[in-house]
Amino acid sequence: MSQEHTHWVLAYYSFTPLADPHGEVAKHKAFLGARDATCRVYISEQGLNGQLSAIRADAEAYIEWMHQRPEFKDVRFKVHPYHEQVFPRLTIKYRPKLVAIDADVDLSLGGEHVSPKRWQEMLESTDERILIDVRNDYEWKVGRFEGAELPPCETFREFTAYADNLKEKTDPKKIPVMMYCTGGIRCELYSAILKEKGFDKVYQLDGGVIGYGLDQGSKHWLGKLFVFDDRMAVPISTQEESPVIGTCHHCGKANDSYYNCANMDCNNLFLCCPECLEKHKGCCTTTCEQAPRIRPFHQLNPHKPFRRWYTYEKDLPAEAMQHKKGTKTHK
Ligand SMILES: [Zn+2]
Ligand SMILES: [Zn+2]
Repeated sequence: MSQEHTHWVLAYYSFTPLADPHGEVAKHKAFLGARDATCRVYISEQGLNGQLSAIRADAEAYIEWMHQRPEFKDVRFKVHPYHEQVFPRLTIKYRPKLVAIDADVDLSLGGEHVSPKRWQEMLESTDERILIDVRNDYEWKVGRFEGAELPPCETFREFTAYADNLKEKTDPKKIPVMMYCTGGIRCELYSAILKEKGFDKVYQLDGGVIGYGLDQGSKHWLGKLFVFDDRMAVPISTQEESPVIGTCHHCGKANDSYYNCANMDCNNLFLCCPECLEKHKGCCTTTCEQAPRIRPFHQLNPHKPFRRWYTYEKDLPAEAMQHKKGTKTHK
């Protein structure tokens, strides 16, 4: 990439409890509102989960501001340089739960944190173990560790059913389970669920795939890392290339570019090659191509995913907007 890396994209979280999460939201708004930054920061009594992009000086100022405060002094900021902002706006909100899951989980039970270096050694050992990816299937489709399983983990019920089944097939006291996610926060929960279920040897990749890429490069990783911002999918390391493992939803060619269907009432997230993107006007099916509310498709600047339909409202004929309704977005 030739553009100058003027910005930093930060990923970070903290499970240090906060006595006044609403007050923290206000502090964050005051600090970041005065700076050149965009973000998604969620704050609760449990702690904080953040992703932020800012011009480099402001990102550094933010990290310093956080590290000066006792409750955030140990937060690890994972940094990717980039050439522009990657979030649509500054979003700082209170959320009752940092990780959306429909159950209460005792986080203190969480699995053992494993450094990226040790994780790589464990991947290279021949010992019997289970390697699981606790992200979503659309993340898995464009990138994953070699040999990783994808258990159903969208809901607590699905994941506990998977754990129960695994208990039948293996000895939960003996079998090591290695678990990873994007930045590490999901593993705090899912590893605790496995521990609660009686698995003794549960290991979570510290700092997630982002941390692994920064420390160890892309060894044993296939494809790209899906990220929840305008970049959509990024190489986990700037050092080495990793093979493309995704395929175009229309023609099946190797491809790892994601788009939300241009039909606003569909908004389905799908992988699409440049030829099919143009041929199908950014739509996921021929039915969607005929739909009334289609985001304008620009060949050189196809709609950025995760922007909501209202971003495009002004570009559409009035009658198309009369039957607007909620759209599905993938978060
Ligand atoms: Zn295609
Ligand atoms: Zn569609």
